[in-house]
Amino acid sequence: MSGRLADLSGPTITDAIGTDSVVLLPVGAIEQHGPHLPLSVDAVIAEEVASALLTAVGDEVDLWLLPTLAVSKSNEHAWSPGTLWLSSETMLRVLDDIATCVATTPARRLVFLNAHGGNTSLLSVACRDIRVKHDLLTFLVHPSLPPASGGTSTEEEFGMGIHGGLNETSVFAHLRPGEANMDLAVRRVPDWMAGNTSVRFGGPVQFGWTSRDFGPDGHIGDPTGANPELGRELFDAAVAGLAEQIHEIAGFDFRA
Ligand SMILES: [Zn+2]
Repeated sequence: MSGRLADLSGPTITDAIGTDSVVLLPVGAIEQHGPHLPLSVDAVIAEEVASALLTAVGDEVDLWLLPTLAVSKSNEHAWSPGTLWLSSETMLRVLDDIATCVATTPARRLVFLNAHGGNTSLLSVACRDIRVKHDLLTFLVHPSLPPASGGTSTEEEFGMGIHGGLNETSVFAHLRPGEANMDLAVRRVPDWMAGNTSVRFGGPVQFGWTSRDFGPDGHIGDPTGANPELGRELFDAAVAGLAEQIHEIAGFDFRA
């Protein structure tokens, strides 16, 4: 049995959810994505990917979706009015509270499905903290690994299309036809970093940054060629990749 935890009634939880259940928290963001996209992009992607994943593997894996956590750690966009964000301290506490609630069910596996690169480091920390404190098996997965965390973006973006660039804009255009304003899409790639071997997105030196550090528009990448067909390909590939990962997660346990 699979589904959405919030659709169950209280007394049925312990029948529906068992020790083999995988509980998954989609994590999005409400943050500026440049002039061509709405704030909701990461929340939309997290929700839609999680729904498609449930459809794809729900018959084979005992998968339960939690409601999408739409507001998360987006303080790299705090300069932009309207961006909603949690501090790292608050977000760790929110995740710990959610884990406390999950631990009241028989489920032992908690997966964070993260669609916002700014959360990746903190969710890794939460995975260990929750493992220690609640004795849950914890996992962090991404629709696509953020370029700043070792993932890739296009050569034309020098691998630095990390926010509102070609891929993300395409996926959003696929999921919400007509809602990306392509008239306002402009190239904003930090070409000046492209020659760096170390201090760059995806390089071995990590650095603190805000999206305002790269210009007033707020996106980092080149969305000008974005199109829904590419978005559909990327979305389908992401769901297929996650389906494999969830299968392995469902069977994973430690052997001491
Ligand atoms: Zn995004």
